[in-house]
Amino acid sequence: MMAAIIAEPSVSSVDPSLDQSNRSVVELLAGWLEPMGFRCVIDPLPDQPKKVNLIATLHPDGPRPEGARGLVLSGHTDTVPFDGDRWTTDPFTLTERDGKLYGLGASDMKSFFALALEATRGVHAGMLRAPLTLLATADEESGMDGARALAASEHGRALAGAAAVIGEPTGNRPVHVHKGIMMESIRITGRSGHSSDPHLGRNALDAMAVVLDEIILWRAALAVRHRDPRFAIPYPTLNLGHIHGGDNPNRICGRAELQIDLRPLPGMDVDALREELRERLRERLAERAPDLEVSPLSPGQPPMATPADAEVVRLAERLTGHKSQAVAFATEAPYLARLGVEAVVLGPGDINCAHQPDEHLPVDRLEPTVRLLRQFIQHFCLH
Ligand SMILES: [Zn+2]
Repeated sequence: MMAAIIAEPSVSSVDPSLDQSNRSVVELLAGWLEPMGFRCVIDPLPDQPKKVNLIATLHPDGPRPEGARGLVLSGHTDTVPFDGDRWTTDPFTLTERDGKLYGLGASDMKSFFALALEATRGVHAGMLRAPLTLLATADEESGMDGARALAASEHGRALAGAAAVIGEPTGNRPVHVHKGIMMESIRITGRSGHSSDPHLGRNALDAMAVVLDEIILWRAALAVRHRDPRFAIPYPTLNLGHIHGGDNPNRICGRAELQIDLRPLPGMDVDALREELRERLRERLAERAPDLEVSPLSPGQPPMATPADAEVVRLAERLTGHKSQAVAFATEAPYLARLGVEAVVLGPGDINCAHQPDEHLPVDRLEPTVRLLRQFIQHFCLH
């Protein structure tokens, strides 16, 4: 199953020339799940018909007892683009070498579906007291459009109350918190003119100097205001990543743009931060009165903050023997949280080899992962 899933290309990218459909992976999964009794919904993303989510659910025969929550085994079907020249194996041919399985998505995270299916083998409706769902999303690597669409759909709402395991690469150690991601563009429009007379225009770069100063002050204020010792970098980071303005030294700069990356801690609201940034810049720039526009470069990813005492986190800690931690990457967990699904991130791959040539999964992770997932199914779904 792992070899077949990896053989189906499903690159997602913000670059349209690299972006591919994930439908073939989803159809493969549905083709295996349907004969096992799962009801499979293949749900195309609004405005992106070649991208689909799969919601496959095995429902119990009888009525669900009160408090029986059910389980969602969740992952993304897409991979990042790859540098074929730098791979020593074919990225689409699962290859075993020195105790490792190489392939694009071996670690992050297409192989998780094969392990989840293996853990589900032999489970049938009569054994269930609560539903077991396998969720396979589109576009996690290029903006999380799949999870966002799911969070707004009736199929998503049907998952409310369940616990979830998201099989992103954590070396099978549980994770319950991560920071969010915001990427914002700040555009200033002034008026160009001959450099010899400043009164002929309004210099956008002069205003940008004030914007930079204000953002650096804001960054320091945020770091004082927000602290979370669970993270290696315990404060929200703000990176000045890209700036462009003007065209020629002898012209007043008419336009300038700055792009920043801000990683909020759990508890910080993405929309509120954007509004605060806008307000601060407007206030500082008031008397210079250039046109200021603050807008997101992408919808942004909210932070993950599953409570440390959530049942699914506690169970993950007990089964793995590891305390749940924070990670530095974002996942789809916040979108599941919007649906009332409490998630732990726990998967067999290693983040260090994800998004790299020769991505791989150690063979000795397979059986422990299947056992672990089987224990989650037992706890949340079986009689
Ligand atoms: Zn991933």
